[in-house]
Amino acid sequence: MLDATHDAALSSWVESANAPDTDFPVQNLPFGAFRRKGSDEKLRIGVAIGDRILDLKLARQQCPWGAGMEALLAPLAEGDLKPLMAAPAATRRHLRSALSQALAEGSEQAPFLELCLVPMAQAEMALPCAIGDYTDFFTGIHHATAVGKLFRPDNPLMPNYKWVPIAYHGRASSIGVSPQSFVRPRGQSLPPGADAPRFGPCQRLDYELEMGVFVGAGNRQGEPMDMAQAEDDWFGMVLLNDWSARDIQTWEYQPLGPFLAKSFATTISPWIVTREALEPFRAPFSRPDGDPQPLPYLDSPANRERGQIDIALQVLIQTEAMRTQGLAPVELSRSNFRDAYWTVAQMLAHHSSGGCNLQTGDLLGTGTQSGPLPGQGGSLLELSMGGKQPVALPGGETRSFLQDGDCLILRAHCLRDGARRIGFGECSGTVLPALTPGA
Ligand code: CA
Repeated sequence: MLDATHDAALSSWVESANAPDTDFPVQNLPFGAFRRKGSDEKLRIGVAIGDRILDLKLARQQCPWGAGMEALLAPLAEGDLKPLMAAPAATRRHLRSALSQALAEGSEQAPFLELCLVPMAQAEMALPCAIGDYTDFFTGIHHATAVGKLFRPDNPLMPNYKWVPIAYHGRASSIGVSPQSFVRPRGQSLPPGADAPRFGPCQRLDYELEMGVFVGAGNRQGEPMDMAQAEDDWFGMVLLNDWSARDIQTWEYQPLGPFLAKSFATTISPWIVTREALEPFRAPFSRPDGDPQPLPYLDSPANRERGQIDIALQVLIQTEAMRTQGLAPVELSRSNFRDAYWTVAQMLAHHSSGGCNLQTGDLLGTGTQSGPLPGQGGSLLELSMGGKQPVALPGGETRSFLQDGDCLILRAHCLRDGARRIGFGECSGTVLPALTPGA
């Protein structure tokens, strides 16, 4: 599965792509939708390279390309990523290979493509595609256990957890791209000891550290994907923050699951890191001793051999006071997507198993990715023990839950001996004050 595009020795004629700590070396080549800041030009698809974006609309016009490339580049130039997302793996690899050669040191296309680079600082990013449906899974077993313990200390995991990749259908309309600002939600909650609910601004606003998976070609209704198809049919991944209103959630979630506690905003990072770019960071999937093995429709030799992906995750916060004082964002936690209880292929296979059709550009959230140790929680609910132990921040501030003006930043990267480090960029979002009724 590895090819010349993954060669750790490969460097780029785009100088910033060779910096050791860049998220976007020539081995990454993620796709995003953008336009120049302040312009009214049509969105087009670009490829992140160092601190630049290769504008594929210009690159299609300015540069000679090899066989088969015109059909691939035409929709990208028009801002439409979906034909590529739906393309067979061999086609996606063909484009990746052509982009890798074009951006590599010594490329004959460099003099043309130099004219097609846009500094990231001058670009405005948009959602990479129209998202038809959004489903949020619950694959973080350490999150599920830690949150379960807050409510059921003796029996934190529900009996279905180790058999079913649990999920709920989320809301696609309120998904935004980083950097996103959103208004603190209002809703119903039942204050402790009260016998009737109140309606007002959320008082326990939280974040959730997740990855998002973009579906490739999808499946026809009534024709589920098997594990082999599921492994082949996801396009790539982004960071995802599933903002959560805990007080609203607690009051509304039974019996049908989360609704308004989750639907007010979801933020994703702008660059889709492709399945091909993640290839060097695949890892075996196994169950701990004593846990049930996945049912046959969720099992395959390939999944056991390389179903997991080693992605190091990080959460940072910068409060409004920190910004005013010029203090840098401070780390809240670290974890790794490798700890997920279910793999990406298992999420797709399970989602389609009942006959549901997944469509190109659908987004699957992975659920909160917490680590096994205290302090590795992927939400404030975990880090503050349900609000009982506020987290200390620089400047003497504390947080049990998010306050207005707080900016949350998710980051992720992949690192392995013999491979070039790749990253996901940033997923940041800022909380704005709740709307005043009648204002
Ligand atoms: Ca979630």
